[in-house]
Amino acid sequence: MEMGPNSTGTVYLVGAGPGDADLLTLRAARLLGAARIVVHDGLVDSAILALAPADARLVSVAKRRAHHTLPQEDISALLVREALAGHDVVRLKGGDPFVFGRGGEEAEACRAAGVPVEVVPGVSAANGAAAAAQIPLTHRDHASIVSFVAGQCKGLAEQDWSGLAGQGRTLVIYMGIKTAGQIAEKLMADGLAPGMPVAVVENGARANMRVLRGLLAALPELVEREKVVSPALIIIGEVTAVECGSIAAEGARLAAGVEL
Ligand code: SAH
Repeated sequence: MEMGPNSTGTVYLVGAGPGDADLLTLRAARLLGAARIVVHDGLVDSAILALAPADARLVSVAKRRAHHTLPQEDISALLVREALAGHDVVRLKGGDPFVFGRGGEEAEACRAAGVPVEVVPGVSAANGAAAAAQIPLTHRDHASIVSFVAGQCKGLAEQDWSGLAGQGRTLVIYMGIKTAGQIAEKLMADGLAPGMPVAVVENGARANMRVLRGLLAALPELVEREKVVSPALIIIGEVTAVECGSIAAEGARLAAGVEL
């Protein structure tokens, strides 16, 4: 896949899925197996990086909340620089590159510099976590709308989530653990019932996955009591109670003295 020294390389924006290597697409695995340079972030497991050839260059641009090792512009500049130098670049991202992955910004930067881009989809955390926790994001009896939102601090109060959660709908919140208290308040201020079932999926689709269930009003307490750590998703809606059965969900609601 490496080209001659004078031709421009291609940047492959590759989704690595939620963690385990066996949730990679075949295309992602093939590109990784032939990679000369892999630029990856902190969400990608070492077993996945191990698929790259032993002599491939692995460049970490790990991002953690409130502490970025490389600013986004520098990451884009790195991809462009390597491609213009004639190298194909595998830019590996957790989950799917176009779901809260800044893949759009990197693709724009490449296109602006005349660098060809290909995007390889990945299993996004919502899909991986829902499958592993057996929470159907849609269900003919419970939800026919599903939304993905980002719950990190910046601009949270200004975001209009009204109508995204409630009866017949599933809301999946990425990056919302630190702000779980504000999120629960925001949703209840929008009219969502305190007794709406919720689930928190920590390390979804990984060997150390934890699935915690509760009710919206008690979400902040649940996150605090269980010391939930990143990466984790919050899923809000009736579907989170499907696995344990609607009767169990009804019992939990009655015990908590709340109505949907
Ligand atoms: N592009 C990624 C999302 C990146 S944003 C994707 O499509 O999945 C990072 C957030 O994704 C984390 O804060 C967390 O909310 C979520 N996340 C990523 N991997 C996860 C996992 N294995 N289990 C639960 N949530 C995960």
